[in-house]
Amino acid sequence: MSEQQQPSIEEIKQQCIFCQIIHGDVPSQKVFEDEKFLAVLDINPASPGHMLVLTKEHYAIMPQMPEADIQYLGKLSKALSQVLLKTMQCEGSSIFIANGPAAGQRAQHFMLHIIPRNEGDDVGLKLTENQMPPGTIEKLKQALAPGLKKNLGVELKVEAPKPKTEVDLDSVTEFFAKTKNSRKEETDDESSDGNKEEEQEKEAKEIEDESEDDLKKESEEVEETVKEKPKKKKPSVKKVKKKKEEKTEENVEVSLDDITSLL
Ligand SMILES: [Zn+2]
Repeated sequence: MSEQQQPSIEEIKQQCIFCQIIHGDVPSQKVFEDEKFLAVLDINPASPGHMLVLTKEHYAIMPQMPEADIQYLGKLSKALSQVLLKTMQCEGSSIFIANGPAAGQRAQHFMLHIIPRNEGDDVGLKLTENQMPPGTIEKLKQALAPGLKKNLGVELKVEAPKPKTEVDLDSVTEFFAKTKNSRKEETDDESSDGNKEEEQEKEAKEIEDESEDDLKKESEEVEETVKEKPKKKKPSVKKVKKKKEEKTEENVEVSLDDITSLL
């Protein structure tokens, strides 16, 4: 680090509100402190109990932190989230780090958020789900492979995308345009062809009859399952549906027990 850069970093530290909190120059609601980290309650929480775990050293983003500190941070965030689960009576927690302004980082000081969560709360941490064009995942894996090998020493098995599934943006646009056109043609055909309509009605009736039979069968099964339900401990469980239900209940119980026993 050159002498010219040094003062500017010191300046950043002096201006950093979180460094001021750590030095006690700005008041905060501390809930944990040791020589490396400080945890405070966020004064504008996403939900009550929202904690900020701060490094005492000024790091702007996680990659600047020493490995040992990151390892310790993992243990610390686990312990603090368990405290929240027990004391705030919450159902879960969101634990995240915003690395860089693009990720929503507002202060130039590293911090990890621990936010108590409940089903249906209004904490706005919703992730979008995007459809990927065919072959894109394989291409992504190909792009990641050298970095994974260099940083983690792992060889990622990557299948070369099949020529058919190798889709560029132009062909995707073309595909959607074609689909749109063919749908339009179908609609035109239907409106002009009376016989076709009759045939379709006949087919629909057949399908209806079949599904009525299926429904009847299904409702019989459901009735049986309902009848069996009170005898929960009886081992003669025939219905797959019922087995599935019980399994889910078991899993939930186990995970809740686990959480409680860890506290
Ligand atoms: Zn700072």
